[in-house]
Amino acid sequence: MNKKENTLEHTGNIKDHGYLKPQDISRDDYFMDICRVVGEKWTCDRGRSGCVIVKDGNILSTGYVDAAEWSPKCEEVGHQIWHVQDEHTHETEHCMRNWCAELHAIAHAAREWICLYWATLYTKMTPCYIRHCAQLIVASGITRVVCERKYQDAKPSEEVFKHAWIELLYLENWIEKY
Ligand SMILES: [Zn+2]
Ligand SMILES: [Zn+2]
Repeated sequence: MNKKENTLEHTGNIKDHGYLKPQDISRDDYFMDICRVVGEKWTCDRGRSGCVIVKDGNILSTGYVDAAEWSPKCEEVGHQIWHVQDEHTHETEHCMRNWCAELHAIAHAAREWICLYWATLYTKMTPCYIRHCAQLIVASGITRVVCERKYQDAKPSEEVFKHAWIELLYLENWIEKY
C-alpha cells in the first residue's frame, strides 16, 4: 500500500461547515473536526480512525489506528487478519495488528496519569465491542461518547453504553459498512 497516494483522498478532512459562522460551529463539531485530523495518522488502512478525549473543553488525550508501540506496522509488514465468528455464526475479518484509536487514546491517558472521569470521547464510528473499546470506555469513567456515524455492528456496544448510562450521540445519520 502506498500511503502517500492513499492520503490524497483523505486530505481536507476538516468538515466544510457551509454557511455557518465560526461562532456557530458547535463544540461537538469542533472536536470532531480535530478527531478527523488526528485520524489521518493511521498506519492500518483497515482502520483510518481517530479519537479525541475531552473534559471541560480541554483535550486530555488523542489516538489513531496504529500497531502496539514498538511493534512493526501494517504499512511495513502487512495486515494480520483474524476471522472472528459471533454467536450467530456470522464471520467478520479484523486486522489484529492494529489497535483502535480509542485504545491508544485511553492507554496514553493511563500512562500520563490523566483521569478520564466525566470526559467525552470523540471518534469516527461507534466504538467496537470485539476489541473491547466500548467496555474499556465504560471502565475508564468516560460518560459521553460522540461518534461521527454508526458502525454496522453497533448494537452490542450500544447496549454496553446503555447499561452504564453513557450518553451516546451520532452527529451524522448514516451507517458505516465495511
Ligand atoms: Zn492492519
Ligand atoms: Zn475498537
